[in-house]
Amino acid sequence: MSPAQFIPPGATLGVLGGGQLGRMFAQAAQSAGYGVAVLEADEAAPAAQVTGIHLAARYDDPLALEQLARDCAAVTVEFENIPAQSMHWLQSRVPLAPAPQAVAVCQDRAQEKALFQRLGVPCAPHAVLAAGSDVGAIDPDLFPGILKTARLGYDGKGQVAVQSATDLSAAWAALGGVDCVLEKKLDLAFELSVVLARGRDGQMVEFAPQQNLHRDGILFASFSPGPQVTADIAEAARRAAGQVAQGLDYVGVLCVEFFVLRDGRLLANEIAPRPHNSGHHTIDSCTVSQFELQWRTLVNAPLLAPRQHSASVMLNLLGDLWFDAAGQQREPDWAAVLAQPGAHLHLYGKHAPRKGRKMGHLTCTAATPEEARQTALRTCAILGLEPF
Ligand code: ADP
Ligand code: MG
Repeated sequence: MSPAQFIPPGATLGVLGGGQLGRMFAQAAQSAGYGVAVLEADEAAPAAQVTGIHLAARYDDPLALEQLARDCAAVTVEFENIPAQSMHWLQSRVPLAPAPQAVAVCQDRAQEKALFQRLGVPCAPHAVLAAGSDVGAIDPDLFPGILKTARLGYDGKGQVAVQSATDLSAAWAALGGVDCVLEKKLDLAFELSVVLARGRDGQMVEFAPQQNLHRDGILFASFSPGPQVTADIAEAARRAAGQVAQGLDYVGVLCVEFFVLRDGRLLANEIAPRPHNSGHHTIDSCTVSQFELQWRTLVNAPLLAPRQHSASVMLNLLGDLWFDAAGQQREPDWAAVLAQPGAHLHLYGKHAPRKGRKMGHLTCTAATPEEARQTALRTCAILGLEPF
């Protein structure tokens, strides 16, 4: 089959990774009549609970990869840390999007920064630390900074604040001496992200940027529209995200995170080669969700420009909510949350709540941003979340 041929409903689509992103991808694809197969070792994983075919194996299991290639008309990923070898093998057997070469860039902060620089997309001042790097030669202007592992970091993990050059060696050792990127600590006014989809023919559609609020390095809330996102900033962010997608010759759904500094500058932060937590609101606030665009890119269906029909505030539901002040486990008051008009509850089927673990999200939609904000604030009060 030629890779750009339309794959009709009834076919099976594969996804590597069984977390909540795989689950929401599967649910979206299934609602249009596609079958979904997931490769995920964890029997109880969120996506494994909802897919028709669950291959309970490691991402590099040859038999499981063989079965995926045989049973699926196309394959995608929900997680960027899939072994490169598995992706290359699959790419030779079945249409795979995004391509392993693009995923490889998004796996590595140093490569992401190099891509931003090559494309002329401004990013944070930084230095790459690899085996043999001379920590004494680092530009003093990068302090105070944040040292981040080049690979495998998420939700603020794999990051250490570094006050001065003298702390750098100890911080690097604390991160295991692996390849790292030292970034200057920036004076952020706010953060935003752009989610877009690009097809095999290069056609591209984007969602309006959402404004993101992080707490303790983890996304706490996404606001769409973002109260501080001016038309100029939105346009610059969409343009930069589009450049990144084109620069990677990307196929699939991609998210670019940005910082806006107090002096007004827009800097690219990082790239995710998949739907993104900050785009979850699109399920409930837009005519086409990020997960629908993911399967559309995979089956070579037309990419429809999403229209946002409701203002939204998305709140992440972390495992912390399942514990009271004394540390006793409890169940959040879902009945009260569900009584809020416009509150859309999404729980991922994770059985063991842990602090900082993403258990679900809640999207509050309304006719106006202020009403969505008020609903979100009421649900914060119900759930015991600190208001924003
Ligand atoms: P990840 O999302 O993979 O954990 P990020 O690099 O996006 O890693 O960092 C997480 C959050 O930490 C960011 O969204 C931002 O709030 C904060 N942060 C990261 N880098 C910087 C920086 N250079 N200056 C100021 N804040 C930062
Ligand atoms: Mg991030």
